[in-house]
Amino acid sequence: MALTETTMQEILSEYAARRQQHETERDLRVADIYRQVPEIAAIDEEIQSFGLNAMKGYLQNGRDAARSLSELRSRYEHLTTSRAELLRRNGYAPDAMEVHYTCPLCKDTGYVDYQKCSCLKQRIIRAAYDHSGLPNHLKKENRQAFNPALFSDEPYQNEVLTPRQNILNNLKVVEDAVRQIADGGCRNLLFTGTAGTGKSFLSGVMANELLALGRTVLYVGCYDLCAYFDQEHFGDRARKAPTSLSAEAIDACDLLIIDDLGAEFRTSLSYTSLFHLIDQRLQNEKSTVLSTNWWIPDLRELYDERFVSRILGGYTIVRFFGPDLRVTQARAGSSSNR
Ligand SMILES: [Zn+2]
Repeated sequence: MALTETTMQEILSEYAARRQQHETERDLRVADIYRQVPEIAAIDEEIQSFGLNAMKGYLQNGRDAARSLSELRSRYEHLTTSRAELLRRNGYAPDAMEVHYTCPLCKDTGYVDYQKCSCLKQRIIRAAYDHSGLPNHLKKENRQAFNPALFSDEPYQNEVLTPRQNILNNLKVVEDAVRQIADGGCRNLLFTGTAGTGKSFLSGVMANELLALGRTVLYVGCYDLCAYFDQEHFGDRARKAPTSLSAEAIDACDLLIIDDLGAEFRTSLSYTSLFHLIDQRLQNEKSTVLSTNWWIPDLRELYDERFVSRILGGYTIVRFFGPDLRVTQARAGSSSNR
């Protein structure tokens, strides 16, 4: 789990604010109880003076410290019992004078014994989803939503496998990669194939499964990524990039998914930055998925040999082919409407 420092600080301030709010609510409740039942205020005042009394008893000559402590203890027990009874008789809940934390386990600190509380882990996962940049239509994709029947089981062009056999193989590659990345390992995949053959779907599956396992994912279109590089360099003069992108977010994510490689508007600066990013992530063993509608020879034309060999050297090539699913589904939809 690697959220950015900024996001982590935001979450912890959120916890501090919540804690503060619950403490203020408790103070207000207590003040009200003191007004309604002054005996309780008197009891609390006496309890608060115990520390001082114990000290006095200890210092006083002729008094046995242990005896005075045991007297204080039984007095304390008597007072707390009376207080509980007074609360009950006046219609207050037994815990009316305590802080009501959202998470009693960690008392809204986010930590139990220096370890992240389950509530904080959940909060981090939610933040990871919010910051993932995952498009809405991919947020629901997962292994369970997968329907292999959508993919043709007929031979396709000169391919050895049918599109369905192929997508099932690709799903295995993805599940394997999810396991490795979740275990802290590194996997780089290049999804290559024409539009509508399941690349986005498998990117979505990979993103959602990792996010659910508490890993961070950043999904970005290559066009937006290059716009971001230009904006970072040229400032306001360049194109608008998504505000969620930052060097920190790109650097911190466990998996970076760059969608639609080859469809970007590329300047020589953004090309260099893109190459540098891919190269750096390979060197630092940080997982990346590149998705492109182009085949490898096309990429050689679009970029250059150095770029493509870097990818071929560090990525598993995952091929997608078959009829365009969007066209097939649209046809099926229109025929069922007839
Ligand atoms: Zn907690």
